[in-house]
Amino acid sequence: MKKIVLGCIADDFTGATDLANNLVRAGMRVVQAMGVPTQSLDAEADAVVVALKSRTVPAEDAVQQSLAALRWLQAQGAQQIYFKYCSTFDSTAQGNIGPVTEALMDALADQPGGDFSIATPAFPDNGRTVFKGHLFVGDVLLNESGMQNHPLTPMTDANLVRVLQSQCRRKVGLIDYKVVAQGAAAIQTRIDQLRAEGVSLAVVDAVSNDDLYRLGPALKGLPLVTAGSGVAIGLPANFGIAPSNTASALPPAAGFQAVVSGSCSLATNRQVATFVQAGRPALAIDPLKLDAADGGAATVAQALSWAKDLLPQGPVLIYSSATPEAVKAVQARLGVQAAGDLVEHTLAAIARGLVGLGVRQLVVAGGETSGACVQALAISQMKIGPQIDPGVPWCHAQSEAAPNGGLHLTLKSGNFGTDDFFIKSFDCLK
Ligand code: ADP
Repeated sequence: MKKIVLGCIADDFTGATDLANNLVRAGMRVVQAMGVPTQSLDAEADAVVVALKSRTVPAEDAVQQSLAALRWLQAQGAQQIYFKYCSTFDSTAQGNIGPVTEALMDALADQPGGDFSIATPAFPDNGRTVFKGHLFVGDVLLNESGMQNHPLTPMTDANLVRVLQSQCRRKVGLIDYKVVAQGAAAIQTRIDQLRAEGVSLAVVDAVSNDDLYRLGPALKGLPLVTAGSGVAIGLPANFGIAPSNTASALPPAAGFQAVVSGSCSLATNRQVATFVQAGRPALAIDPLKLDAADGGAATVAQALSWAKDLLPQGPVLIYSSATPEAVKAVQARLGVQAAGDLVEHTLAAIARGLVGLGVRQLVVAGGETSGACVQALAISQMKIGPQIDPGVPWCHAQSEAAPNGGLHLTLKSGNFGTDDFFIKSFDCLK
């Protein structure tokens, strides 16, 4: 059996890719699994990121899914477990960050050092910093960043010690920036001190990548680390792994190129406009013309027949991306959930059809849209490759829709990527 050293549990899909991307850049060979695999790992990898959808499900479900992931990762040889959550610490008063952390700590309690863990969503490359236990998003506190209005996980308190304590039985403390600045030995001394005070979980300040590199060695041998994706940059060195190009090596790319976009985020709308303005072939899908009775099948067939003759000439784009006003109008007619489901279903069928036409380099824009496409392509795991933009790597996956060699794909969450993302990503694979 192939053995891994680091086992990661991510509470959502694109967050898993974000973590995997940071580990690859730090030199690890990483596989991302969609959900808890049912079989042993059969790829060479230093780390596996199990992607769950556990951020906003009831806490007990999140705990059970995370424990199942833990058991599978331990069976693959994982020496350390990394519980990954959002860099804005997305959670409700009930969790799920606290309950999942404590359940993992309970499960790892008999391991040396298993009585202690850390928590920090710091990701300075993306403007997330923690200072005196308070989370900043760019220049403002978390609770002034817009996250206070999030529909599912409103974050109204930037003091993470307080937020985490409200979700935990264990005592929560702080390792502040002054300690972190002194390096790994000082951090370890502080951990011992906190332990003596009965503290089992510490929020860690980090305002720069240097802080994360100082934190990394202090976490060596800790059975559980909980964090955003930032802490990952300092961990591979603990296993004797250094950055190298081979970590991100993927099989050579072949086949046709296509983009499927169901994201209506600002960055994606700019990416669609840039592709269209460059004179590239693009087809808009109008949700109001989709026939819910046939699940959008007629539109799928039309889109594929449009793409068929264009594919040999270069990348094509098929998109439902639209302005906020247009989206609101569609939602008013169809309902928010029904519109989302119908569009996702249609785009996923188009993605599968495109692969059937010979597309082997596929860009998907949108978190939910990506989930639907990966499901339609029956992809259960991906090898993580080189970064296109921060948080967005190329990946390679096997799919029954792409026999003999699989396909390259990248899953771009809404607001990631530069305006020319839909064009430059294919250049990155050359
Ligand atoms: P993002 O990562 O930008 O949030 P997602 O794919 O997660 O993108 O979410 C976009 C949602 O909007 C999906 O459910 C998608 O089906 C839906 N959607 C896409 N285009 C439209 C549209 N034109 N009108 C209404 N809903 C749409």
